[in-house]
Amino acid sequence: MVGRRYRSRFVTGLVVAGCAVVGLCVGSFLNVVIHRVPRKESVVSPRSRCPGCGTELRAVDNIPVLSWLLLRGRCRTCKAPISIRYPLVEVLCAVLFVAMALRFPDEWSLPAFLVLAAACLAGSAIDLEHMLLPNRLVFPSLYLAAALLAVAAAIDGDWDRLLRAGIGAVAASGGLFVLALLWPRGNAMGGGDIKLALLLGLCLGWIGLGHVALGLFLGFLLGSVAGVSLVVARAKRLQEHFAFGPFLAAGTLVAVWWGRPILDWYGMG
Ligand SMILES: [Zn+2]
Repeated sequence: MVGRRYRSRFVTGLVVAGCAVVGLCVGSFLNVVIHRVPRKESVVSPRSRCPGCGTELRAVDNIPVLSWLLLRGRCRTCKAPISIRYPLVEVLCAVLFVAMALRFPDEWSLPAFLVLAAACLAGSAIDLEHMLLPNRLVFPSLYLAAALLAVAAAIDGDWDRLLRAGIGAVAASGGLFVLALLWPRGNAMGGGDIKLALLLGLCLGWIGLGHVALGLFLGFLLGSVAGVSLVVARAKRLQEHFAFGPFLAAGTLVAVWWGRPILDWYGMG
């Protein structure tokens, strides 16, 4: 018994450590996605260049976080400053991946939730900067997560969960669509949010349909608090558009990690 428990802890440790390293590398790719996808550029080629002098980045200068620290946040060639956003996205992605690994250490659905975390991070960054959630980010993430959940359902022989995930996707997206119809103007919500909700509802629905409702509710709650704060701080006017995607994403991630205790607390488990 002790041996088995020790071994399972060892495996969990490996999964968590692996997710940290993979998270740093995926974060590095997300930096490319965040910069290029809204500009409709390819995420595969050309290789990354310094925006200051155009020098192509060598592999050694492209190591997540480490290169930025070693170069002290400057280009090796022209010494132009490199935004702290790059190492920040890499670290955040690693943190999210580790949190997912700790949440689903021995579940086959873990890869799908890593896709969810990466899409939430990249989508939030793009939405904050450009006020949009590109189809080229949302749909590939949705298809990849759905495929990975289908694989997990097949391994576990649990097709009910996949069905529930599908219902969650339709319910979340449909719910936002109806809300957008009811309040068509002066509304933070856009078409991108309705599409993103397919992915969020899919992953939350896999956990449970209560989690879908909770995730959306938390998203609206966080968005309203932030929206009111911005108006009070006079940073935005009441009718001004602001990015809603990051709040939906945050609400979803909170529901993934703490949904069970929150729902139990309210007797809705
Ligand atoms: Zn340079």
